[in-house]
Amino acid sequence: MAAKRFYAHCDLIEGTADVYYCSFCNKLVKEKHFQEEHLNKNHDRKLSATLEEWKRKEAQGTARVRPDSAPNRLKR
Ligand SMILES: [Zn+2]
Repeated sequence: MAAKRFYAHCDLIEGTADVYYCSFCNKLVKEKHFQEEHLNKNHDRKLSATLEEWKRKEAQGTARVRPDSAPNRLKR
């Protein structure tokens, strides 16, 4: 069984081409969600916050994984 992925804000969901994790809503969403729901939000800041959270989890030990090269809609 594959290890469970940790998804940071705006990470692309594995096995999909157009579904992302929204950390504001804790939901899996399509691209248009970010325009329709969060036009005025700072997504880069939210991504940084979730990556900090991930670093803490990793340091404490977790069964989940997040590749350093995880595809993310903010990184292109
Ligand atoms: Zn959202």
